[in-house]
Amino acid sequence: MPVAIAGKPEPTTPVAPLPLDFAVVDKGGAPVAGIEWLAPQLANAAAMYAKLGLRFAVMSVRRFDGKPRIETRKDRDDLGKYYQHGYINVFIVEALKDIDTASDYERGVCWGDENHTAISKYIIIQAGSPPGVLTHEMGHMLGLPHSHQIDNVMSYSRSKKRPPFFMPNQAAIMRAYARKYYEMGFLQPAPEEKVVKLE
Ligand SMILES: [Zn+2]
Repeated sequence: MPVAIAGKPEPTTPVAPLPLDFAVVDKGGAPVAGIEWLAPQLANAAAMYAKLGLRFAVMSVRRFDGKPRIETRKDRDDLGKYYQHGYINVFIVEALKDIDTASDYERGVCWGDENHTAISKYIIIQAGSPPGVLTHEMGHMLGLPHSHQIDNVMSYSRSKKRPPFFMPNQAAIMRAYARKYYEMGFLQPAPEEKVVKLE
């Protein structure tokens, strides 16, 4: 059943595949993460989002020569220098420090302006983080705040008794955001041949 967002019924046309760009930082001449780490992140996200009518396409996996350890707000902002327009940028770094505690590390973050103009919004993930981090950060990228519901993908609480899930209203919000990103020109529709196949 289509869910109305802001009083408007949801369009019946499918959402175009979401184009992803992975940028892996180099350290000592080698990328801090390889395909054996990236593949499960992608597989988890593709499977979770397919149920919601959202698909991903991998447009590029590139290396970049930035700071491997992201420790400050400025470090996070500076990743914008490596930003590739038209795609959802996912930066993979060696370490991602929690800028609020300055002692802990985070698995991932969706970084950028909070007014959702999306122009400077991108995902940062610490290499080695468990599969599912991309799935969670993509939720933020597509407009979701955290949830207090145990086992919700957007929650920090896990019962380990059931797999993480999204609610139908969250799915509707994410589809609406994806459509908005295309309308704004923030994303370029990805070609079908690049769409991530489900395992
Ligand atoms: Zn989060």
